[in-house]
Amino acid sequence: ILAANRHDPRRLLQILRQAQERAGHLPPALLERIASALALPLARVVATASFYSLLRTGPAPAYDVLFADNITDRMQGGPALAASLCRALGLAPGLPAGDGRVRVGTTSCTGLCDQGPALLVNQRALSRMCPERVAPMAELIRRGVAVDDWPAEWFRIEPNLRRRDALLGAGLAPGEALAAALARSPEGLLAEIEASRLRGRGGAGYPTAAKWRACRAAPGEAHYVVCNADEGEPGTFKDRVLLSDFPQLVIDGMGIAAHAVGARRGFIYLRGEYRHLLAPLEALLAERRRQGLLGTDILGRGFDFDIEIHLGAGAYVCGEESALLESLEGRPGRPRIRPPFPVSRGYRDQPTTVNNVETLALACLVAVHGGEAFRAVGTAQSSGTKLLSVSGDVDRPGIYEYPFGVTVAEVLADCGARATQAVQIAGAAGHCLAAAEFGRRIAFEDVSTGGSFMVFDQGRDLFEVAHAFVDFFAHESCGFCTPCRVGTAVNRRRMDRIAAGRGTADDLDELAAMHCLMRSASHCGLGSTAARALTDIVDKFRPAFSRRLRTDGFVPAFDLDAALEPARQATGHDDPRTHFHPDPDTIPDE
Ligand code: SF4
Repeated sequence: ILAANRHDPRRLLQILRQAQERAGHLPPALLERIASALALPLARVVATASFYSLLRTGPAPAYDVLFADNITDRMQGGPALAASLCRALGLAPGLPAGDGRVRVGTTSCTGLCDQGPALLVNQRALSRMCPERVAPMAELIRRGVAVDDWPAEWFRIEPNLRRRDALLGAGLAPGEALAAALARSPEGLLAEIEASRLRGRGGAGYPTAAKWRACRAAPGEAHYVVCNADEGEPGTFKDRVLLSDFPQLVIDGMGIAAHAVGARRGFIYLRGEYRHLLAPLEALLAERRRQGLLGTDILGRGFDFDIEIHLGAGAYVCGEESALLESLEGRPGRPRIRPPFPVSRGYRDQPTTVNNVETLALACLVAVHGGEAFRAVGTAQSSGTKLLSVSGDVDRPGIYEYPFGVTVAEVLADCGARATQAVQIAGAAGHCLAAAEFGRRIAFEDVSTGGSFMVFDQGRDLFEVAHAFVDFFAHESCGFCTPCRVGTAVNRRRMDRIAAGRGTADDLDELAAMHCLMRSASHCGLGSTAARALTDIVDKFRPAFSRRLRTDGFVPAFDLDAALEPARQATGHDDPRTHFHPDPDTIPDE
């Protein structure tokens, strides 16, 4: 493993993943061996191994069954199926069996919201879990059958392509867009990208031409292109489909970016839950090298560019570009302090452009048809099309491509949504739209989204939706800064208390106050947006919360009187005036 990774400490995460795949887990002796072989401090290796949720430093069960805990998986019955599997195996949920052979637990969103309930078994993704599979799965586990020998249809992942437009219907041949880009000078290509007004599709909408120009202009020994395929936003799965069904567009797009910024090397950072895409992508890269579409002297134009794939290991925060670069360099994925921004000091401190999968694919359209043609589609500030990952209470979940400017109502009609109560746009960190807002448009100037479009009908309890989002962020906070680490944990405790019927109106005020604090004081976007959907849901669907509240008055969370009791006993002094008296008129006179 070390040799295959060139003894490169920057490939530490890949080495740890591969070692775990071989050994089952990462015991201390193995971590010591890796540290010494890479001449790294043991503390750095341990810190990296313990940061990622898909790496295991403790003993691993032979069968690690993790049900996706996204809200749509919960709605599709994931928790009940997990409970039935536990019963069939005689297990307590979350705890390994007495002999350590099997554990049934949960993981964050697996990117299969259109075909849930989904789960990972020994990190292999299974879709469409159903009651009929519970008994056969328990039997396979009891008999010790290897996961590779389980029924193949359990692992089938459908693209669920529902609507194609300019990108998915382009029908470009492999290398066609790259050839069109290489026919232009880098400056000519950048001018086309600028004319297209292409903006990043990860959610923030930063102009692609500005990012690439800044990267090209930044001094450095080498420039890099990174494709951010760490698609972890709950409800988003468009990148999974682009990489499975349109990978040539993504790889051509990376070549186009490399030509524009002057890079010779690129990386695809693939989220760990998309492990099933690794082998097909590796095979495609090899094929492109054979075809002269990757490697040296591409298409005979003296352009050198090659791509490596790095597999993540379960950390939502790595979707943030500087955290992703930390992970790419073999460290825990904690966001860097910015500036400097990656375009000037990114991978190995060199100029690096980090782009979303969809943005790179769209660059192919600009290269082939030109910037003006690209800009002719969409709205004034949002050119081109947008891929939406539609899930939840709809007849036809899947991928829908629309020109920017489509209304929420049009999307709902197309996907077969009925009696819709709310639509959560842009995932757990996004906005929750009520019915009165369904005339709004998907566009940067109105409702901006990285792609997630989760639908909830009138039968859904919006409190449960908000609770799932709060659980998600408490789990995914990287713990680096206090507002996010503590804020997400406190929010979860408050929501648990409201769920248990012990919440008060004061809790709702405190949740809103915490959102203000986290928004202004968190180190990265995860913390600053972690309570956005929650406060949106409280504002727009307050009855879902109020009916659970015990009283509208203040109820202390801490019993001061009881806490003083040990001191009274220790001192033998019990003054009635030191007791808590809810009614001031009952306080004894001095
Ligand atoms: Fe980590 Fe949250 Fe702070 Fe971001 S805001 S650095 S995720 S603790």
